[in-house]
Amino acid sequence: MSSLSHVDPEIAELITAEERRQADTVKLIPSENYVSRAVLEATGTVLTNKYSEGYAGKRYYEGQQVIDQIETLAIERAKSLFGVTHANVQPYSGSPANLAIYLAFLNPGDTVMGMGLPFGGHLTHGWSVSATGKWFSSVRYGVRRDTGRIDMDEVRSLALEHRPKVIFCGGTAIPRTIDFPAFAEIARETGAVLAADIAHIAGLVAGGAHPSPVGHADVISTTTHKTLRGPRGAMLMTSDDEHAKALNKAVFPGLQGGPHNHTTAAIAVALREASTDDFKTYAHQVVTNAKALAEELASRGFTLISGGTDNHLILIDLTSKGVAGKPAAQALDRAGLETNYNTVPFDPRKPFDPSGIRIGTPSVTSRGMGESEMRQIGSWMDEVVTSLAKGDADATESVITRVHAEVSALTAKFPAPGLD
Ligand SMILES: *Cc1c(COP(=O)(O)O)cnc(C)c1O
Repeated sequence: MSSLSHVDPEIAELITAEERRQADTVKLIPSENYVSRAVLEATGTVLTNKYSEGYAGKRYYEGQQVIDQIETLAIERAKSLFGVTHANVQPYSGSPANLAIYLAFLNPGDTVMGMGLPFGGHLTHGWSVSATGKWFSSVRYGVRRDTGRIDMDEVRSLALEHRPKVIFCGGTAIPRTIDFPAFAEIARETGAVLAADIAHIAGLVAGGAHPSPVGHADVISTTTHKTLRGPRGAMLMTSDDEHAKALNKAVFPGLQGGPHNHTTAAIAVALREASTDDFKTYAHQVVTNAKALAEELASRGFTLISGGTDNHLILIDLTSKGVAGKPAAQALDRAGLETNYNTVPFDPRKPFDPSGIRIGTPSVTSRGMGESEMRQIGSWMDEVVTSLAKGDADATESVITRVHAEVSALTAKFPAPGLD
């Protein structure tokens, strides 16, 4: 980064500081990851200079000899990795990808159904503050109070009652396997388009560590930067020719202008990496690690929503520990354990000060950590949270200081991809 430090030392120093912070932190935020050096390199290229509105072979600007090949490679790799016949790799991110689904299949005022945000759905699945909840009529399903799992009977009866045009499955805080065949049956029965939003689990699906929505969902939306370990971006996939046309038109010219070609190239690189045996091993280890961490936490008296995990994610209700999510997340962060506070189902507290935290294992697994490191992390989390609950600020401070030193010793042994 010698030019950057010369031209803009302020930004260069901040980037270096963030690099150090990422290297020295046990990152447990389940929607984040570390991309490889190869993905980073593709992202920082001259491809950012090029405008390419349209699709390969049908562009509105000249000079697409190279860009067309890059986008085509990304598309072919997505098709072969996920086993679909159509892929659009242009959405700028997961939220615009989901908006394209609305534009393709709904008119303003039509009904959409998705998981409610407080239960683990995404804003773009029809939540009230989102454009998708303001411009469309939205119906929300949740989880059962007794099991913490999606109530498929509720999904079916709501779908029969409200007849949504699109049903979203998938979300941001779901620790359990998504039952794509069951959603597909309900969508067929009620005449809805089933959209599987696999943003969180795309890498697990690609690596065979979570069932695939292919063959069940009509359309699939995913980000590329979570478990898939690519750059920030998104894809839309389908094996239906008509749906593919509608999605392509919705992305461009419906919603977006020129695609981010440097991102497209980096997506292609990530898809190549995700098709290797190493990545399959990675995806399975993410789940093995999450189960190990969940067991450690449960044995230490943490309440886990749904009792555990099937995937990369653990949702913790801290009520039994006597602390709220936000102060716990802040104390953990100061100890070098990065999490995010999160609402839990039926949370009596406010969204900005909820009862839970959400953690996951994609990033620590990318660093090569295994089950014994997960048990160590679980015990650190317990030490910090238990001390915080006791309310002795000085004692908590010294726990945080000691744990942070131990975290640094661990992260030094497991260099993060792209930062090593
Ligand atoms: C992360 C996420 C999104 C949105 O992705 P952005 O890139 O942040 O816009 C959409 N849906 C789900 C389920 C997600 O987890």
